[in-house]
Amino acid sequence: MELRISDKISKIAPSITLSIDAKLKQMLADGIKVYGFGVGEPDFETPKYIRDAAVEAIDKGMTKYTPAQGTMELRKAICAKMKRDHGLEYNPNQIIASSGAKHSLSNSFAAILNPGDEVIVPVPYWVSYTEIIKLNDGVPVLVPTKKENGFKMTKEELMSAVTSKTKAILLNTPNNPTGSIYTESELKDIADVAVSNNIYVVSDEIYEQLTYDGKKHISIAALGEDIKELSIVINGMSKAYAMTGWRLGYACANEKIIKAMSSVQSHAVSHPSSITQYASVVALNGPQDDVHKMVEQFAKRRTYMFDRLSKIEGLKCLMPDGAFYIYVDITNYINKELCGQKINSSLDFAQILLEQGHVAVIPGAAFGTDNFIRFSYATSMEIIEKGIDAFEDFVKKNLK
Ligand code: PMP
Ligand code: GLU
Repeated sequence: MELRISDKISKIAPSITLSIDAKLKQMLADGIKVYGFGVGEPDFETPKYIRDAAVEAIDKGMTKYTPAQGTMELRKAICAKMKRDHGLEYNPNQIIASSGAKHSLSNSFAAILNPGDEVIVPVPYWVSYTEIIKLNDGVPVLVPTKKENGFKMTKEELMSAVTSKTKAILLNTPNNPTGSIYTESELKDIADVAVSNNIYVVSDEIYEQLTYDGKKHISIAALGEDIKELSIVINGMSKAYAMTGWRLGYACANEKIIKAMSSVQSHAVSHPSSITQYASVVALNGPQDDVHKMVEQFAKRRTYMFDRLSKIEGLKCLMPDGAFYIYVDITNYINKELCGQKINSSLDFAQILLEQGHVAVIPGAAFGTDNFIRFSYATSMEIIEKGIDAFEDFVKKNLK
């Protein structure tokens, strides 16, 4: 019997970040010692006061359906957070909570795209963007950026990609995988193009709290009423609060867009978990000290990892201003041999490194730049120290 999958889904690639993570976890479960720099998942426990709130939610019977858009308490907490951090005024009708930022992105594109609509995606891009756009019948238009500009899309690069079919720009700052942060003037340039062409900006700000060396994240929506009207700001609890498995993301936008997203969500998953929503209110309204402590740890790991990787022969690293990744140029390794096998691509390199060197990284091919690999430093200092030793040793002995 032939089982047929839809043409659309057949063209979607599964998430490389999640599949490498699954492989790593399986190797660890099989008793193999592997160093994981793959998936971007904070190693910290979710802070105690948030875990306590979830237990309280269960004990208090917060275990029923909530409104599709999320509870009023949570949407108010998100409004207060946007005001506190960005001076942005939203009302609860302009907020929707979903099951992770990935889900918020998916709902956004479902709400705004017609078949064939183009979405401008600067390269390198986070692995899921192109697939989420395609899943919602859009066409990702990839715009290469330059290393000397910190891989940030310039006004000229953006303008040259705009067509009559452009519906949205996908902006990610702080950026995964490069860690770059757009400055206010760079954001103004993007906003100018968006406003003059009536294009939405889907602004993925999930790493907003994770910034270093005094660099600060600015939300593009805060640059004026016109650009706020066109912005769909995406954020969530996964990264800053170490809540990846809880699945809570949110979007802030014009009420008309939020209504459409809510309608999609109401038929797909109803709403994010009631317990997670309750705990997220406590997380957002509570003291933010735990977030700051985690950021301090990330900052130390970033400096250490950058110094170590920069000293390894043949590698070229970009110092990240935010997020928890170091994007490493391995052009010098391409066409060489690792353990007797030719390295044709970052995929070959990452695969041999994981299987034979027992170090997990993400190949740059996942982000549209094949001569790079991404290291995540969302893991303990001990693993970073030992894992970089193992990486260095493996490459020294086996790269020819
Ligand atoms: N956006 C970016 C840039 C990410 O790196 C991630 C990581 N998972 C997400 C969105 C999605 O986060 P989540 O669905 O866990 O909230
Ligand atoms: N965003 C993280 C990463 O890039 C988590 C994995 C995922 O959601 O794809 O590693």
